[in-house]
Amino acid sequence: MSFQVNFVIFIYCSSLVFIECETQVQKVTIPHDTPAFLTEASTATGTSTEAPSTTSATTEKTAKEKEDELRFKSVTGKESAEYWINVAQANLRERQKIRPIERVAKNIIYFVGDGMSVPTVTGARIFKGQSEGLKFGEEAQLHMETFPFLGASKTFCSDAQVADSACTATALFTGSKTNIKTIGVTPNVEVGDCSQQMKPENQLSSILEWAQKAGKSTGIVTTTRITHATPAGTYSHIAHRDWENDAEIKKAGQNPENCDDIAEQLIFREPGKNINVILGGGRKHMLPSTVVDHENRQNGSRTDSKNLIEMWKLLHTNDSAEYVDRVEDLLQIDTNNVDYLMGLFAPDHIEYSDNITTNHDPTLLNMTTVAIRILSKNPNGFFLMVEGGRIDHALHENYGQRALLEAVEFDRAIKQADEMTDDEDTLITVTSDHSHVMSIAGYPIRGNPILGVAENSDIDGLPYTTISFANGPGFRNQTSNGLRPNVSEDDMKKVDYKYFAGLPSKYETHGGDDVFIFSKGCFAHFLTGTQLQNYIPHVMAYAACIGPAGMDQSPLCNEIRSTSASARLTNANFSLHLVLFVALCANRIICSFL
Ligand SMILES: [Zn+2]
Repeated sequence: MSFQVNFVIFIYCSSLVFIECETQVQKVTIPHDTPAFLTEASTATGTSTEAPSTTSATTEKTAKEKEDELRFKSVTGKESAEYWINVAQANLRERQKIRPIERVAKNIIYFVGDGMSVPTVTGARIFKGQSEGLKFGEEAQLHMETFPFLGASKTFCSDAQVADSACTATALFTGSKTNIKTIGVTPNVEVGDCSQQMKPENQLSSILEWAQKAGKSTGIVTTTRITHATPAGTYSHIAHRDWENDAEIKKAGQNPENCDDIAEQLIFREPGKNINVILGGGRKHMLPSTVVDHENRQNGSRTDSKNLIEMWKLLHTNDSAEYVDRVEDLLQIDTNNVDYLMGLFAPDHIEYSDNITTNHDPTLLNMTTVAIRILSKNPNGFFLMVEGGRIDHALHENYGQRALLEAVEFDRAIKQADEMTDDEDTLITVTSDHSHVMSIAGYPIRGNPILGVAENSDIDGLPYTTISFANGPGFRNQTSNGLRPNVSEDDMKKVDYKYFAGLPSKYETHGGDDVFIFSKGCFAHFLTGTQLQNYIPHVMAYAACIGPAGMDQSPLCNEIRSTSASARLTNANFSLHLVLFVALCANRIICSFL
């Protein structure tokens, strides 16, 4: 009898657990992946967005033709007022359907476009539209722009008005601002202070570590060196961002015996050594000076004789681990049977997207795809950081075209990640660590090539480009006749064309203006408004029910904990009574023989 009662209670409790889970679901449809322009125009006119059949295409106007007819019927050849009003009305109707998703985020994907300033996003959008042959280009839409929630991030550091990627990585991943050039340590640590770096009370834990402690798989993907500032923010505690190998620590007059470099921390320390997927560049900081890199025939940078790649393989001998260094090998990984993957595709940073094929380097999309396949096997979910790291490098060189190309490539990886995951159990956030000083200036006409000349100056009568920088190596002295160089004579089609800079500097600098936070999925609506940069990981932790004690957690986390606790209790009762029942039966059988 006791067993029956408890079995019924067990079934009842189980169904309650099931019902409780179901009630957490809020069916929300956030439109994405449909070309927004097509959807908007079609919604406005009540036409179908489906492609016409072959038969009807020959006899009737295609949806695109109808769309263009509506769009460009204005006498000016531009969109009509009716078109703009219809589009705005369609957008308003779509917006009304959007509901916040207040469910626990099983997965968190954190995209960081390094240096992806607001003008970089705008420029990338226009560049994409013009590259794809749209009539003008400004009407294009990046995938990140389809995300329903948008916020602004204030990027200053503890001690700097304009940030670098080290203090901002600390803010983005640990939830605290800190000093410029330092990573994963509190503002108590001055730049280059090894002794303060090593004190546990000065070390900050990261969201990647919180995810690991909650049983999630973790991954870091970047187009820079894997030991560069942004990825290092997920796993290291370092008083100077340049300490990527032991030789750099020596060069700074510190003892690497006392102060682990970033590469060592990745391989040997928590949480670096537990990261499932590590994809990027930067072999030189992993290899000793006695080993020659097969790609550039240069020696490794380490002076402590450690080959950290071989050591990583040894440490993961029993872990279904793979190491790769070419895109061809990356794409052949059996993701179902690999739990730990290290891919280091370049001695230094991975090549710019326009040049990756020459060195067998992967795209950010390639790496993101493989990472999600491996990480999503974990029933507890995953945390993945993906950095589009070379947007920043291109901007530092005043490479306008390369910067926009990198931003578009970054966006492709975002689209892929979005398509591979479900908003109902995932939070995807796209942001930047800091701004740059590129601007989109002048009064170029609609559809003017974003990489071209805007108009002529009303002072010297000479042309100037739409894209320009406040400073950087693109600065050029006046010609012998005392005038600015005539940029219309330049070849702006070259990817390494350096756009005009107003002030000479070896590298263009970061900017101090705010950057975007695009979000979708679980608790994405919390990432709106103008926020401190270090607020972002707090929302992620809240959404995913992870993070150290003392951090605010969603009420849903309590429900989950109590649900799993009551389920555990019920299971324990069931097991106990099963034992008693068996014992009772055995006793009766034994008794019957007596
Ligand atoms: Zn930078």
